[in-house]
Amino acid sequence: MLRFAPSPNGRLHLGHAYSALLNARIAERWGGRLLLRIEDIDLGRTRPEFVAGIRADLDWLGLRFEAPVRRQSEHFADYAAAREALAQDGLLYPCFCSRGQIADEVAARAARGAAVPRDPDGAPLYPGTCRHLSVEEAKARREQGAPHTWRLDMPAALRSLSEPPVIRRFSPEDGALETVAADPGRWGDAVIVRRDVPTSYHLSVVCDDAVQGITHVVRGQDLEAATDLHALLQRLLHLPAPAYHHHTLLRTADGEKLAKSKGSEALADLRARGVKAEVVRAGLGFRTFG
Ligand code: GLU
Repeated sequence: MLRFAPSPNGRLHLGHAYSALLNARIAERWGGRLLLRIEDIDLGRTRPEFVAGIRADLDWLGLRFEAPVRRQSEHFADYAAAREALAQDGLLYPCFCSRGQIADEVAARAARGAAVPRDPDGAPLYPGTCRHLSVEEAKARREQGAPHTWRLDMPAALRSLSEPPVIRRFSPEDGALETVAADPGRWGDAVIVRRDVPTSYHLSVVCDDAVQGITHVVRGQDLEAATDLHALLQRLLHLPAPAYHHHTLLRTADGEKLAKSKGSEALADLRARGVKAEVVRAGLGFRTFG
């Protein structure tokens, strides 16, 4: 079971088309099924026209998905249950730090000559300030309505496992599997529940892959490092772990990865210019399916 899981906070570009077509090809080649998931937890950035646009683009590319389409915004209760399970195991703590406070704390540590480790995305690791709050103080601040995220207590999470987490990778060519060690510790005390919505990408993705019975995840290399954290969450939540293939990202002529934020040409614009879907598919290496 495979899935394509776009976020409707912009229009799809050629990179998304490549990822969706690759999922479809692998599903077809291996007799698998392909589901669509709309990753719309980001209520502030999701827009109905982006959801409609995604459906229109995928249709135009000739991709068909089984019903029902899962929309994450309809499943906040599932994510709340997962959050509760982690909290019950004592693996989460509320964090009241604003971004500015974290930046100040990191700068203060750097000024004292302390090492400032960074996560795989290059952001400084959370210095653990709120991990040391007493249970009473954290409770009082929550009851006063102080905005907070929930962070994973990474050292406690790693200690709770009987064996270190692993990732199964598969080859789309021959289906061969290899198992590699995951290193979730490099994400530090990651945010598992955001301040603005009652979940995070990481929490929702592991819950949904399990609920939808996803056995093979095919997505871009930009999410490869996040898989270490997903492997850990799957273990902590006793969820099945899919096998993963992270494909190379399409790049512009000057080597930049395509991105909505950088104004990469949208599939809708190609369509409006009269470009044929066959031409786009062929250009991406999908002359035929299967
Ligand atoms: N929603 C994510 C994105 O659009 C993809 C998530 C995933 O494939 O795990 O980048």
